[in-house]
Amino acid sequence: MSPVLEVHELTAGYGSLTVLREVGFTVGEGEIVVILGANGAGKTTTLRALSGLIPAAGSVALHGEELQGRRADARARLGLGHAPEGRGTFGDLTVDENLRMGGLRLPRREVPAALDHAYGLFPQLAPLRDRAAGRLSGGEQQMLTVARALMTRPRLLLLDEPSMGLAPQVTAELFAELGRINAESRTAMLLVEQNAAVALTIAHRGHVLESGRIVLTGTGPELAGNASVRRAYLGV
Ligand code: ATP
Repeated sequence: MSPVLEVHELTAGYGSLTVLREVGFTVGEGEIVVILGANGAGKTTTLRALSGLIPAAGSVALHGEELQGRRADARARLGLGHAPEGRGTFGDLTVDENLRMGGLRLPRREVPAALDHAYGLFPQLAPLRDRAAGRLSGGEQQMLTVARALMTRPRLLLLDEPSMGLAPQVTAELFAELGRINAESRTAMLLVEQNAAVALTIAHRGHVLESGRIVLTGTGPELAGNASVRRAYLGV
């Protein structure tokens, strides 16, 4: 069976600035794969290129289907969910309205079940459904970002630094929830993170990105035990 995601020689950047250089990796069925890297390594750029938000060279296949040449909305329809960096919620809209935005592609009759599913994954959001997203705590906003991306039950969920700006305890809870969602629904996830310690608690495999190139690859435990990862990303 083909992997959920297969990336070959992905090269992308902004104008004349090349950020990603011939990056290649796969995400298997039911797998959580993490891309670790310092500030500016190209993590967000990788996810934007996969989602079709910026142009890129190389190939990107979702369940064997080539995505290059397709627009972002077409990629989303094919099963790519993107939980963007920095609380990508609409602050003036309520929690419920934000989730409905995530479900815009669904036939109208499927929206109630999708909402129930989202509140089932993050029960903390249910009592807040009529609150403006801008008035949620950082952790709640991050949960909403993930829940919104899951409204259409994507085959692959792209997660951009979900730990950003969250207290350690809230980060741990969010990652435990991501691990549970993956275990229960087998939703494949591609996670980019600076917080290697928490990312490696749930990642099956991972890659280290430096200056737009993958310099190290391993299973979660291999990376957690690797001396250079421990020095650079785990502060050991
Ligand atoms: P961070 O954790 O800081 O977000 P990152 O690994 O996600 O780091 P990217 O956001 O992918 O890094 O950025 C990689 C490089 O691309 C950086 O040098 C950054 O300055 C540059 N860059 C990012 N976005 C743009 C943009 N819209 N226009 C021009 N350059 C950009």
